[in-house]
Amino acid sequence: MNLSVVGTGYVGLVSGACFAELGNQVTCVDIDEEKIEGLRNGVMPIYEPDLEEIVERNYESGNLEFTTSLAEGVNNSDVIFIAVGTPSQEDGGADLSAVKAVAKVIAETMDEYKIIVDKSTVPVGTGDWVEEFIADNKVSDCDFDVVSCPEFLREGSAVSDTMHPDRVVIGTNDSKPAKILDELHQDFEAPILHTDRYSAEIIKYAANAFLATKISFINEIANICEAAGGNVEEVAAGIGSDHRISDKFLRAGVGFGGACFPKDTKAIVKTAAEHGYDFKVVNSVVEVNEQQKETMVNKLKTLLPNLTGKTISVLGLAFKPNTDDMREAPSRTVIKQLLEAGAEVKAHDPIAMDEAKEVFGDKIEYCETTEETITDTEAVLLVTEWDKFQDLDLEEVKDLLNKPIFIDGRNCYELEEMEEAGFIYHSVGRPTISADDLAATREVAAVTG
Ligand code: NAD
Repeated sequence: MNLSVVGTGYVGLVSGACFAELGNQVTCVDIDEEKIEGLRNGVMPIYEPDLEEIVERNYESGNLEFTTSLAEGVNNSDVIFIAVGTPSQEDGGADLSAVKAVAKVIAETMDEYKIIVDKSTVPVGTGDWVEEFIADNKVSDCDFDVVSCPEFLREGSAVSDTMHPDRVVIGTNDSKPAKILDELHQDFEAPILHTDRYSAEIIKYAANAFLATKISFINEIANICEAAGGNVEEVAAGIGSDHRISDKFLRAGVGFGGACFPKDTKAIVKTAAEHGYDFKVVNSVVEVNEQQKETMVNKLKTLLPNLTGKTISVLGLAFKPNTDDMREAPSRTVIKQLLEAGAEVKAHDPIAMDEAKEVFGDKIEYCETTEETITDTEAVLLVTEWDKFQDLDLEEVKDLLNKPIFIDGRNCYELEEMEEAGFIYHSVGRPTISADDLAATREVAAVTG
């Protein structure tokens, strides 16, 4: 099938490449000239496991093309996917300006039947707007259908998620586009769910809001464990083994970030408000998440009340492992708090250093290795659980640090190993290892020989 994908970001590039890999002829369109030029020269704009190989293979075979001309994309395709960004506006609502800009060009250029598929995450009713706008502004007397096909891929495993989705949602009441899109998606071997367009639009927000709710819920349970005693990992195992709850998304941490959960939770609250409904649960989810991002530095301050002039190391900057995405990353809050408290920051991320430089500029020191980051700092804060940070040589870390203070925002280490290694160790929702604990352990060790 001939397809175009408009917006060559995480969703557009991965979807376009995967559709090409399955034998379709795909034109990826973006307004960013540098990105398109780079892709034509083999430069990937994002990091995703396996993506580079698929893009390279399909670009070379001619299945995948890159252009800045949306008109070219429209002319080359039967199905046009809209995969542009829909970032948060000041008021929390989704900014639909890119979607509207794309709809305008489609109306001006299409001259035969097209299926316009919205893959961007958009508020309920956006499909109606696109349909009415194109109907009112199209220059050619041709037919078209607008379908909502929300995307559920996760950054860090985007290719695998796209190739093996849990489900494909096709939101339309019309049988013609539904049949064509069924055919297009059959190679993914995933269940296909047919819904009306409104429901498909809501499904995406409801899915993200629900997952975000699980995260904020377990983070609050972690906070209760810290205050009252208990270990959130044991609690999570205890509740997660109930199949009605499931053990997914029950890892306590420093809060969620990224391009989706923060903006989508705010947007569904806004949409609800526009329809006269106060979405209290998700409103609280957002509030809890903001507070959670501050817990690491708050814990550090209980150990080092005056951070002025002290150098602190931060491991992990991307919002999660296996991505270079810094959007709404908890590291942004952590580093902002540290700088506001007068601390100096040394930081390292395996992949997101360039993106981090755009965010923090010259306010922090960027280090090439974990060892360089930790050397001569007063404490280490582990913010993103990249594999390499889960397997540190703890003896070496302790030797490099000025004080053995380790704040773990992702529960990467066992309490026993941290105690044995001699760290003052604060994690999330688990007992802390304090200087007194260490002293007591040593006394016991001294007595027992
Ligand atoms: P992104 O910012 O990575 O990419 C968007 C791309 O659209 C950019 O390259 C930008 O230059 C391009 N663009 C903007 N206006 C354009 C225009 N008028 N014409 C052509 N290109 C244009 O965004 P993303 O992360 O891929 O997200 C895209 C959509 O998919 C959003 O609605 C997002 O919520 C949704 N989504 C994202 C993810 C994810 O994990 N990133 C997952 C599921 C759904």
